[in-house]
Amino acid sequence: MDNHTFTAKMEKKLRREQRKLSRRALQAKNKGMNLLDAQNYQKQKRKVARLHERVRNQRDDFLHKLSTDIIKNHDVICIEDLNTKGMLRNHKLAKSISDVSWTAFVLKLEYKAKWYGKTIVKISRWFPSSQICSECGHQEGKKSLEIRDWTCPICHKHHARDINASQNILAEGVRTFNLA
Ligand SMILES: [Zn+2]
Repeated sequence: MDNHTFTAKMEKKLRREQRKLSRRALQAKNKGMNLLDAQNYQKQKRKVARLHERVRNQRDDFLHKLSTDIIKNHDVICIEDLNTKGMLRNHKLAKSISDVSWTAFVLKLEYKAKWYGKTIVKISRWFPSSQICSECGHQEGKKSLEIRDWTCPICHKHHARDINASQNILAEGVRTFNLA
């Protein structure tokens, strides 16, 4: 199961168990019980905590495997220096960023690059990676996030948004690296 499927499945389970926890709290309240004495509530509370822990560990394992794999197999890694704080203010992005814990992932990449003597090139967050056609260099305007693929009006190449952006990031990273 890939990371995204796992996360989605576990989040669904977690939401279900959290709703159950709310019901248990309500039941205890209706019986006039203190939550500390409500066995069913306490039991469910531990279950929810264990689920949180599992999701967190699984995510961390995934990020470790992925970062080690990338570092071992590449000498130069180009990444966008994303403004996570700015992105988290954007609701849609916040969801996908927290899913992969971007900051934690970049930190892992950075220290592993040091261990293995590899190079990480950070591309400015202002570099318009999503706007440039990686084929001919034509720069389109900003595209909203819903647009997942587009066709360049100049060279007519059809692009998947993220693939095209990653090709631009790589080219820019190699350019920056060669200048250094
Ligand atoms: Zn083009």
